[in-house]
Amino acid sequence: MGNQGDLERVGSPLLSVIEDLHSKYKLLQEGTVANYIPELAKVNPDLFSICIVTVDGQVYEVGDYEQLFTIQSISKVFAYGLALEDHGRDYFLTRVGVEPTGDAFNAIILDEKSNRPLNPMVNAGAIATTSLIKGSDPTERLNRMLDMFRRYIGRDVFVDISVFTSERSTGHRNRAMAHLMLNFGMIDQNIEESLDLYFQQCAVIVNCRDLAVMAATLANKGRNPITQEQAVKSSYIKDILSVMYTCGMYNFAGEWAYKVGLPAKSGVCGGIIAVVPHQMGIGVFSPLLDMRGNSVRGVKVCEELSQQLGLHLFECSNKDSKLGENLSQCHLKDEG
Ligand code: GLN
Repeated sequence: MGNQGDLERVGSPLLSVIEDLHSKYKLLQEGTVANYIPELAKVNPDLFSICIVTVDGQVYEVGDYEQLFTIQSISKVFAYGLALEDHGRDYFLTRVGVEPTGDAFNAIILDEKSNRPLNPMVNAGAIATTSLIKGSDPTERLNRMLDMFRRYIGRDVFVDISVFTSERSTGHRNRAMAHLMLNFGMIDQNIEESLDLYFQQCAVIVNCRDLAVMAATLANKGRNPITQEQAVKSSYIKDILSVMYTCGMYNFAGEWAYKVGLPAKSGVCGGIIAVVPHQMGIGVFSPLLDMRGNSVRGVKVCEELSQQLGLHLFECSNKDSKLGENLSQCHLKDEG
């Protein structure tokens, strides 16, 4: 397998693991594609890809890994990092909490005492987070957001205008949340501008490989392992990963933490990112979703990857056995 651009694509036992998982789970046809944003309903449900990028920049990928789709809620992780950089941890915590919720991603709920949204990974918290991104006007704020994504991905990124306008004209639930937060003084007057930026961040176009590079950047203390550019201050990585760990999979976060044991984030596009700190980033894309809005195949793939490679953060043996073995093999280039 040759080099592709700046990416070092290699063959290894790790590639065989994801190839096997891809063959196994492409047969799984459960779930439905998201249809509450009309444009998303047009996606081909058979699309499926898995990609792993290590912190030393090696790339393993299988399936439709160059297929483009919109990032949706996975964007919340990265917007959170930017808002933290803009305001610092202490101020941010006065606006958005870090408490997991057993409710759906689009629940219209605020903390009863503080009126804060519960965390930055559910829609209410993500809208409040995005409303904090600095800039003198909407264009500057959007450009700062896009530049942030560029640092994580390693190339210029664009917004899918059809998906953006589709969500903007149908996103009444998100609009209702913004009004509720305005009522409590938790976001400022200009809610249409904040909603536009939120819908634009959700409509940023990525592929599965991008997801893995972004996850690997988080695994690598905020430094993109391909371009070596620092995408976010390393001091905020622990904030980001903690919130991903406890809140990233919505009302499935507890079961995910128990079974997979990795900080992660899903989106209704069918993407999932998972981070193995100091080791690698995982991206999976398959648009068939379960009732909670998580990719059915994506969840299965991550559960099995974690088990096979011993990736669970609290796996006692993961320092010296399976993970160590597999990662050391990652460095062996496939001669065939
Ligand atoms: N743009 C979507 C929304 O706000 C994102 C939801 C998601 O991916 N879970 O409803």
